[in-house]
Amino acid sequence: MPADTSTGPESPTPLASILGVGPRYAELLGNLGLFTHDDLLHFVPRRHEDRRHLKPVSEAQEDQAVTLRGKIHAAKPGHWGALKLEITVGPATLESSQDLIIARWYGFRPYGIKEGSEVFLYGKVNRDKKGRWTMKQPDYEIIHHDSESFIHIDRIAPIYNLTEGLSQRVLRRIMFEATQRTPFRAPEFYPAPPGLMPRQEAFRAIHFPNSWEEEGRAHKRLAYDEFFVLQCVVAQRKATRVRVHRRRATVKSGDLTRRWNEALPFPLTNAQKRVMAEIDRDLALGPPMHRLLQGDVGAGKTFVAIHAMLKAVEAGEQAALMAPTQILAEQHAISLRRWIEPLGITVDLYTGNTKRKKGDRLRGGELDLFNPKPAAKPAGSVVVGTHALLHDGYAAEQLGLIVIDEQHKFGVLQRLALSRKGQNPDILVMTATPIPRTLGMTIYGDLDVSVLDEMPPGRQPIVTKRRSVKELDKFWTFLAGKIGEGRQAYVIYPLVEESEKVDAKSVKAEFERLKERLPQAKLGLLHGQLDGDEKERVMTAFRAGEIEVLLATSVVEVGVDVPNATVMLIENAERFGLAQLHQLRGRIGRGEHPSDCVLVGEPRSLEGWQRLKIMEETTDGFRIAEEDFMIRGPGNMFGTEQSGLPPLRFASLQTDLELLNQARADAERLVRDDPSLARWPGLLEKMNSGGVSAVSLVAVS
Ligand code: ADP
Ligand code: MG
Repeated sequence: MPADTSTGPESPTPLASILGVGPRYAELLGNLGLFTHDDLLHFVPRRHEDRRHLKPVSEAQEDQAVTLRGKIHAAKPGHWGALKLEITVGPATLESSQDLIIARWYGFRPYGIKEGSEVFLYGKVNRDKKGRWTMKQPDYEIIHHDSESFIHIDRIAPIYNLTEGLSQRVLRRIMFEATQRTPFRAPEFYPAPPGLMPRQEAFRAIHFPNSWEEEGRAHKRLAYDEFFVLQCVVAQRKATRVRVHRRRATVKSGDLTRRWNEALPFPLTNAQKRVMAEIDRDLALGPPMHRLLQGDVGAGKTFVAIHAMLKAVEAGEQAALMAPTQILAEQHAISLRRWIEPLGITVDLYTGNTKRKKGDRLRGGELDLFNPKPAAKPAGSVVVGTHALLHDGYAAEQLGLIVIDEQHKFGVLQRLALSRKGQNPDILVMTATPIPRTLGMTIYGDLDVSVLDEMPPGRQPIVTKRRSVKELDKFWTFLAGKIGEGRQAYVIYPLVEESEKVDAKSVKAEFERLKERLPQAKLGLLHGQLDGDEKERVMTAFRAGEIEVLLATSVVEVGVDVPNATVMLIENAERFGLAQLHQLRGRIGRGEHPSDCVLVGEPRSLEGWQRLKIMEETTDGFRIAEEDFMIRGPGNMFGTEQSGLPPLRFASLQTDLELLNQARADAERLVRDDPSLARWPGLLEKMNSGGVSAVSLVAVS
């Protein structure tokens, strides 16, 4: 079949063309974001319900979600507390009380439920103390018998998300009109691989499948299309980048990297060596490097960055390192000074703070953080900064390399802005948040990926324990002992200040309390409300050991490196995300002493328990990321705006990995054969719409 390459949305006709959608329903559908016929086609059911073979409740299993059908034998409003309605449902002719189920709704009274009606109920079943089957807050749908009943019963029925005033039954009838009765076109907008269900058929079947098998094939087709469009964007971007040839300076002595290497007090790990070689290979090629470096907390990414920066300096160019926070930028400045200033390279710090103070890019003085510039002509220079580097004040003359640390903390736009400085600079983005494979192939799909999968030797394990608030006192005793041994500690709280709205501890209030509990210890306080100078002062004191216990909010989350700190307490741990807990815990376990992490929290949800349990079980960042992804989904993990990922309606990054692989390979082939994709205007249009283009990673200027 020759593909229809025509452009335009599948069916842009307004909703009024659909039978039974008058102004009132059109308005309600608008509340669901549905304005055109096309929107309806893409409105994926939340789930499907097999209403062909329903079992009686007596065959149900405890805690399992089931669909039941029956007659309402009794309905009574609740008389106490939040209970609003209780109904008893069972077969029309009752034989045993074991066939009955009691459904209860709390907080709101479901609409339209009357004794004698027939209903579908969907929800988890449990037995109460008296051994009766119950369902709490179930989905329900009143059964009507009329000429349209076949749309709703005795079939696999779609269940949609609803809005106030629109019932499942009414919406399903509208969807039936839209997908089964009103004509629409869904052209094949690219050469789809053989074996996939035609797109038009898929839109019909995804809503009202005749079998589960058909539903599966429809899902596969539409999910594939979504991935394919996304992967075409990625493939095209990569192809464009590879065509850019950047002008590189020719002086490449290799001298700086060699001298630095010889001066290192310890050998590089094999993983570090491997990644450095990968970077060297990129730098030897014409197109600019666009590499993502993934490495768990503590894997030694900074040294890889130093290697790349020295390479740029050797080539007579400038290198910039951008960090997400002031604390981290300062720490990087300190360690870069330590490692590369002896080679005659100046390290400038550029943050919002330094900018305000002086026109000069350098900051000096009271803290002795930064030595004066060497008098001799420097061998080159690097600049370290925060997002202040993006502002116009910072002008890079010879910017050849940009390293972006803890990349997940930055938005896509910030990356874009920085890469526009200089002329097609090489870009190395580093992240300690392991990216699940499917996400990596989309968000970071046009970057080459290196992985630091080996920790520097001699790391001590971190033992992680969950504890209850009651056990806190024991912890303080334990902590006092550790301080006595010369160690340092972090204590983390979710809030800066007490809040009436949020039931959680604050770092300021606990600071006062802890002064009394640990009168001997030298305490420090760090949170986002302190100004830059104050933060800097606190961190310097902590590094120097003048502060023994640092009470902080999650501002210490990324990158902070104080090897002598071996104890961490996180209070209200249930309030932190898994990735965040992992980052926080990564502040300890960095030195020669074994470390302890204590999580204090009283999670109120299953999810909360799962998170803390995973933390106890593993320190493997990759496993934590995968679990987090499974619990929360991609949107929450990165924040959609942050990730630049368009909403996926059909495809799931959690479950459709194989499909994604196939779509990626197919997209790469198509783009290789025809980089402009001019033969496929329908495809180009999809690539340019629907937020897909927002997956802009690193701009090719
Ligand atoms: P991250 O990948 O989290 O940014 P860092 O670069 O901060 O990790 O490194 C963590 C610590 O490990 C630092 O104190 C660093 O000096 C040290 N380190 C890095 N590489 C090695 C190595 N090859 N051998 C021993 N220690 C190393
Ligand atoms: Mg780091």
